[in-house]
Amino acid sequence: MKSRAVTLWNGFLDLLFPPKCPFCGAVRTRPGICGDCADALPWVPDGEAFRTVRGLSCTAPLFYGGAVRDTLLKFKFHGYVAAAEPLGALLATCAAERLSGLFDTVTYVPISRERRRQRGYNQAQLLADAACRRWDVRPQALLVKVMDNPPQSGISDAAGRWANVAGVYRLAPGQSVSGRRVLLIDDICTSGATFCECARVLHESGAAAIYGLSVARAREKSGQ
Ligand SMILES: [Zn+2]
Repeated sequence: MKSRAVTLWNGFLDLLFPPKCPFCGAVRTRPGICGDCADALPWVPDGEAFRTVRGLSCTAPLFYGGAVRDTLLKFKFHGYVAAAEPLGALLATCAAERLSGLFDTVTYVPISRERRRQRGYNQAQLLADAACRRWDVRPQALLVKVMDNPPQSGISDAAGRWANVAGVYRLAPGQSVSGRRVLLIDDICTSGATFCECARVLHESGAAAIYGLSVARAREKSGQ
């Protein structure tokens, strides 16, 4: 539940920093995506809503590319954390439409302690936080990244992406996922290797079901 003080404070911040469309930067009277972007963005059609990668069902509201790519790169690498709120709202809507009743726990893809220190935040965690605020729940920090591998974004071939993430995640100390149905959140799904490696750890730890949800996913190419 939001306290009145927090609501007032957020309202005050909005006066100083009015909400903007995360894709074009247009100032909005209410947070969210502007009408022009809503019309122009590459939405994933319902008929292609799910992509199954090595048995894991993944979904995303948008395809990766153009303005979506620009916004997600700014969000991930250039401190554009204001995008977390509208993008998290997008994830919440997508999950409500496609995954309603299928999960009871929300988590996110972790980054290494070193990367977290450099960047100052984990973009996937910010998205999960923003989505969960709409459901009045908190995301669980179920996974940790135990190796500081090179970023997936710097590896162009699918085989290299799969090899790069093998064994880099563990269940967080003290966590249990036995029988849980887990929604796993990330910003982008390209090869699906990151989602699958996290899902493998959750599955081996006893999770009953796992679904991947990202803001955007790559259009499928052969070999991915
Ligand atoms: Zn816009």
